[in-house]
Amino acid sequence: KHKSTDGQQQQLTVALRIRPIFANEANRGPGVVARAVAGKIVIFQNPQARNTADVLRAKRSHEKRFVFDWAFDGKTTQEEVYIKTTKQLVDNVMKGYNATVFAYGATGAGKTHTMVGTDQDPGIMVRALSDLFKEVRNNSDATSYEVKMSYLEVYNENIRDLLNSHSGQLDLREDSQGNHQVIGLSEVSVSNEYEVMKILTKGNKNRTQEATGANQTSSRSHAMLQVHVKQSDRLRNTVQKVRTGTLYMVDLAGSERASHTRNTGQRFKEGAHINMSLLALGNCINALAVRGVKYVNFRDSKLTRLLKEPLSGNCQTVMIAHISPAAIHFDESRNTLLYADRAKNI
Ligand code: ADP
Ligand code: MG
Repeated sequence: KHKSTDGQQQQLTVALRIRPIFANEANRGPGVVARAVAGKIVIFQNPQARNTADVLRAKRSHEKRFVFDWAFDGKTTQEEVYIKTTKQLVDNVMKGYNATVFAYGATGAGKTHTMVGTDQDPGIMVRALSDLFKEVRNNSDATSYEVKMSYLEVYNENIRDLLNSHSGQLDLREDSQGNHQVIGLSEVSVSNEYEVMKILTKGNKNRTQEATGANQTSSRSHAMLQVHVKQSDRLRNTVQKVRTGTLYMVDLAGSERASHTRNTGQRFKEGAHINMSLLALGNCINALAVRGVKYVNFRDSKLTRLLKEPLSGNCQTVMIAHISPAAIHFDESRNTLLYADRAKNI
């Protein structure tokens, strides 16, 4: 934790969520290689170690421990994930600060489940907005609020409006303060949580999702929901104070290696873009986590340029990394654990 320029605590939280194992995964390999212990530790085991004769020695050298702010497993509820990672950010956005939540991980690891979820079991985006509307209702006597949403995707370094399927490619412009704005991005006024789920579902249908070798619908794009909360005091005879806070919630593109999925041509190019932007994001988060770093390079990708303002200013940042516990996903899970470990506050 360290102070940003305006004195607010800048804070990075890194959580790791292990989804439940699927029956078809359990059937295909030696089972589970990752488990969460004591709510903060992930024990990760190399499945090769089990073939070694000296079991104890193999266990020691093939077992790795990672410590995070939170470690969630297949039994952790959507509500618990929301409360531990994001609830507090909503309070801060209501006070006029920015906050960012990322879901990181390979395709199929559970990112969209965490961020969007289902009607019966909604994820962070829906719960955050639901809480936000509750707060707005509770404080409406003294303060007037305006809540607006934008939903965009970054695909192959192109920005598209997910709330307007006819928008085409949108430009990113930098203002005199060095902040970036997407020209022509639609902003939708919302007043209740029911509208939100409808808007998200519709937006997700517009996401670029195409079949790859590894998975039928692999999400090759980053999806970013921005929730702007503008508030002004209702008091008469005073100077109107207007404050704006934005909550950024990002369902990142699958982090698996391009080479892993028999990708060629167009797919391979996507893989290169995805790797580049996730690498740039990791570098930015890592630089922010290291105390005293003066210069962070946001220019390397559209994703990081879009996130320059929230990540460099008065902001809380939460990264939720996702893995499957299955042995057959060992390589992907290891890459994700290393990425999340590296992003951590030092
Ligand atoms: P991603 O967005 O990372 O590609 P998804 O969120 O689509 O992955 O998850 C892949 C599948 O696993 C989906 O069918 C989803 O419903 C299921 N799933 C993921 N995480 C969980 C969880 N924590 N509990 C139950 N099912 C999950
Ligand atoms: Mg997804």
